This record gives sequence, C-alpha cells and structure tokens, in this order.
Amino acid sequence: MPRDSMARIGPEPAHAGAADTAAGLGMVACHGCGTVWRDAGADARCGRCGSALHTRKPGSVGRTWAYLIAACILYVPANLLPVMTTASLLGRQQDTILSGIVYFWVSGSWELAVIVFIASFLVPLFKLAALALLLVAVQRRSRWRLLQRARLYRLVEITGRWSMLDVFVVTLLAGLVQIEGYATIHAGVGIAAFAAVVVLTMLAAHSFDPRLTWDAAGGSGEPAP
Ligand SMILES: [Zn+2]
Repeated sequence: MPRDSMARIGPEPAHAGAADTAAGLGMVACHGCGTVWRDAGADARCGRCGSALHTRKPGSVGRTWAYLIAACILYVPANLLPVMTTASLLGRQQDTILSGIVYFWVSGSWELAVIVFIASFLVPLFKLAALALLLVAVQRRSRWRLLQRARLYRLVEITGRWSMLDVFVVTLLAGLVQIEGYATIHAGVGIAAFAAVVVLTMLAAHSFDPRLTWDAAGGSGEPAP
C-alpha cells in the first residue's frame, strides 16, 4: 500500500508523540474486514461484512479479571500437586514443580533447574502480576507510565506461547526415562492445573484491550510526563 493512501484523517496532531484515535474522531474500525465507519452506537454492524462494530472489546476488563482470578486460583494446585510420578525399583516418587527444580539442582542439572524455575515458576507469576497491574491501572484511569504499560502488555502477550515449557519437560523426561528402562514416569494432576493456568493467562491477555490503557491519556494519546 502506498504511503499516501495511509494519510491521516482529521487535524494534524500538535506535536510528535501525539496522535488522533479512531474513537476520538467518532470513527470505529471493523475487526472483521478493517473498514472504518462512523460510530453509530452499541448495535451497529459493519456495512461490508456484517461484523458487530465496537470501539473497544466489549466487557474487556470484567472478562480479563474473570480469567485472571481463575488462573490465580489454579496457580496454587499447579505448584502444590505433583506434576510427575516416577516409579522405579527403588519405589515411587511424586514431584511438584518446585521439588522437581530442587531435584534437578541437587542432581547436577543446574541449567535445567534454572530454565524450569524461570519458565514454570517466575514467568507465570510475573504474567499474573503484570495483568493485575494493567487492569487496576485501567480501572483507575491512571496516566502512570503509559508507554511502559503498553510494553509490559506486549511482553505478556509474547511470553504466552513459551509458557508450556513445563509440559514439554515432563513429556521429554518421560520419554527419555522409559527408553532407558530404569523407571516409568507419569504426568501428575498438577500438570493439568499448570496447563490450565497457562491457557487461562493467555485468554486473559487476549481479552484485555490495550487501547483501554491509552483511553486515560485522552484523545491526544501523548505519554504522561
Ligand atoms: Zn467488516
């Protein structure tokens, strides 16, 4: 698309960093086909593809809170319940995420211990805290660190797909150990809770409308000092 056709509509912003928003200009973009329409209220539909038109994701804050609270609740069993059961001639052993990390560390696989600690313990915790912070800031219509909050949201979105690492580690271990024939490893119920936390956090991140962050900045969209 040539640059000229993407020219701004509406008055030029006063200075660099400020920007017009579709909502500020009374316009709404169709999520289905990308066409832009005059905002005609709650029940408006796209004149081209028939999708419902809305300036912001409907019920974004409430839905994100719902997914986030569910994820926080399941974070407890994800860490307390065993993620894998090892059965060998020496007996049965059940490991939670944290006891597994300790086991890796003590048995000399400290690289694996660090990776699992970061990917399965720190990252999910960071994402839950980050989403809660973003939601509280939006609800308070805070202008605090708008640009950093926008970056934080992108970071939360990017890390979503890497959070299933723990499930892969258990699967990999189960395969390795069973090939060697020493023992059998089965995934425990904790892994289901852990997978649910990861999926619910991804749904929460997806439900959050990052434009709500900038609504607090007003029509100009300039970062707060
Ligand atoms: Zn459309």
